[in-house]
Amino acid sequence: MSINLTAYQEVLAQLLPYQAKLVAVSKTKPVADLEAFYAAGQRIFGENYVQELTEKQAVLPADIEWHFIGHLQSNKVKYIAPFVHTIHAVDSLKLLQEINKQAVKNQRVINCLLQVHVAAEETKFGMDEQEVQQLLQTWQTTPAAFSGIRITGMMGMATNTTDETQIRKEFHQLRQLFGSVKNQFFNNEPYFHELSIGMSADYTIALQEGSTMVRIGSLLFGERNYSQN
Ligand SMILES: *Cc1c(COP(=O)(O)O)cnc(C)c1O
Repeated sequence: MSINLTAYQEVLAQLLPYQAKLVAVSKTKPVADLEAFYAAGQRIFGENYVQELTEKQAVLPADIEWHFIGHLQSNKVKYIAPFVHTIHAVDSLKLLQEINKQAVKNQRVINCLLQVHVAAEETKFGMDEQEVQQLLQTWQTTPAAFSGIRITGMMGMATNTTDETQIRKEFHQLRQLFGSVKNQFFNNEPYFHELSIGMSADYTIALQEGSTMVRIGSLLFGERNYSQN
């Protein structure tokens, strides 16, 4: 086990003044590692792979709040809909509609964050500003068609770079968009309040730029070795 409980306490202390939440990103890590953080008090865990998430959820305590943070294919929503708390990376109307359908089937309401693309890399998923607008206009004009979902905020990733100025600029851009979307579509809706930005390498910048939820993996669980999984 290469988990780091000291880093965990340090991260919690840093989040405190911002009242931000920690999503402990446990992808590829064994159940025993999650149990160690659970014992230390952690209740929010983030996973990226549907099968891995369903396997872990089945054996871990029922009061864990599971967040799906990776790219989600519509045809897999049904496997996590019975229990998932928040889906971070909603990047299309089609996916939102499928989450709604599966949530209704399970008589649940699933929290959704809209993923926005700001990073320089071409490969990262997410919508641009115009796509966010289009999606929200559809959502706003047909509220009855979305009774199984609640849009609680936005999520994004900065470019994987050591250039702090660029990271800050991208987080700032996300914060601005979050603010304008809140004004336009969620003005009287306190539930729209989450800005999910910040990972192991850039979470301190994200907090300064308005993060309410950081997603931290390797700093807590050690580096991931995909070949062993
Ligand atoms: C893996 C992952 C993280 C955590 O990354 P670390 O650098 O290990 O903290 C956060 N967000 C998403 C979307 C991820 O896929």
